[in-house]
Amino acid sequence: MAQITTKPSRHMPSYSTKVDLFMERVIARNPHEPEFHQAVREVIDSVMPVVEVTPAYQQARILERLVEPERVIMFAVPWVDDRGEVHVNRGYRIQMNSAIGPYKGGLRFHPTVNLSVLKFLAFEQVFKNSLTTLSMGGAKGGSNFDPKGKSDNEVMRFCQSFMNELYRHIGPDTDVPAGDIGVGDREIGYLFGQYRKIADRFCGVLTGKGVEYGGSSIRPEATGYGAVYFAEEMLATHGDSLHGKRAVVSGSGNVAQYTVEKLLERHAKPVTLSDSGGTVVDEDGIDGEKLQWVMQLKNVRRGPIAEYAEKFTGAKYLPNQKPWNVPCELAFPSATQNEIDADNARTLVANGCICVSEGANMPTVPEGVDVFLDAKILYGPGKAANAGGVAVSGLEMTQNAGVTHWTRQEVDVQLRKIMQSIHESCVKYGRKDKFVNYVRGANVAGFVKVADAMVQQGIV
Ligand code: NDP
Repeated sequence: MAQITTKPSRHMPSYSTKVDLFMERVIARNPHEPEFHQAVREVIDSVMPVVEVTPAYQQARILERLVEPERVIMFAVPWVDDRGEVHVNRGYRIQMNSAIGPYKGGLRFHPTVNLSVLKFLAFEQVFKNSLTTLSMGGAKGGSNFDPKGKSDNEVMRFCQSFMNELYRHIGPDTDVPAGDIGVGDREIGYLFGQYRKIADRFCGVLTGKGVEYGGSSIRPEATGYGAVYFAEEMLATHGDSLHGKRAVVSGSGNVAQYTVEKLLERHAKPVTLSDSGGTVVDEDGIDGEKLQWVMQLKNVRRGPIAEYAEKFTGAKYLPNQKPWNVPCELAFPSATQNEIDADNARTLVANGCICVSEGANMPTVPEGVDVFLDAKILYGPGKAANAGGVAVSGLEMTQNAGVTHWTRQEVDVQLRKIMQSIHESCVKYGRKDKFVNYVRGANVAGFVKVADAMVQQGIV
């Protein structure tokens, strides 16, 4: 590995000027992509000091090459609804960087999907995948299709049309998509079925598959479980644990559900869930039985979280509100990007929050991140804290390649180890005196491996 020394980039004028100049060029080259600019800025802020002292990275123009996707695929996705009407959505796959392994990253189906959102997610994915210690490059894809309110048949026809184009760009050694917002078991099943049909191959081309056809144990659980394991590791650095602590969780989808499940196993007390309509607060705590009801509501009936407050006495529904005003010691943002603004962050800190572990990708705006760092609370950014999902996807790829299937316990042990190793990497690169800046730690640790691989492989 190239010899590096790391210094803090935040508030250091010489680096800031370089970062500003770099960002000016990124913004000019990628106009109207605010989420992508935000994700790039955060990483460049952290890694510029490393690049400054590593001539090999400068000579190979590593930063300039990292912010340019290796390939962007955009395509039309025409489909027919149950009334016979024709619709067309836009499909994407951003293949960002494959220096350390085949492209890997989820598919998101949500009306807010656009090029900027997917480029930010693909960029983050490069560093996250590197942190897992597994061989996976970074990618992301999806569509502005909204599965909400669609019948199973409509979702199936959409997935089939989406795969009619995507299949020629993916494969077990080239690019292996998975799920993300709006893409769960049902969608992965339809996508896999269509791939198998048109490619005439049964192989590990997608992860998050059902266990009946090559899926890994605890892939659905992995992101939520991993975010809780990461919080546990952070708390342990203070000699503390999750036991008995109040937790606020946003979202009520895949990541939120399994975050709550693992919190309960660790005897913490989750008190909120939310969705795009609002937040439910349950001061009695969301227990295992209530969680099962939420899983039925969200995964089978696909109803709004507001129904929770009608079902369970004592619970309150706060329409159009996020959960960040609810006092807590632990926060698990698990819905979407930029869901915690600077005021929300200040409120969390003022109300006694000591640990934030991000299940979602980039859920905190940059000013909010600064609030957490200035307050010196334990703050685990998404690319470290939510890497458990893609880590188990990597383990699914290994199982598929070896035509084998590991037990729940075997996968969980590996997930736990990977989250511990990610935490160690963050501490190694992010510690200054007694404080660990996990943002810098995650960015630098993820970056160095990819940058070294790029240097070794030449200009390709
Ligand atoms: P799901 O689709 O299962 O759930 C998403 C949840 O977030 C739903 O409750 C949804 O509400 C809510 N939500 C989505 N968009 C918005 C919005 N714009 N405003 C308010 N609420 C919103 O997705 P996941 O649980 O899989 O993903 C959640 C987050 O975790 C995302 O940031 C994703 O990128 C990240 N992530 C997921 C991984 C995975 O393995 N699934 C891996 C790593 C990160 P509603 O039901 O009303 O739409």
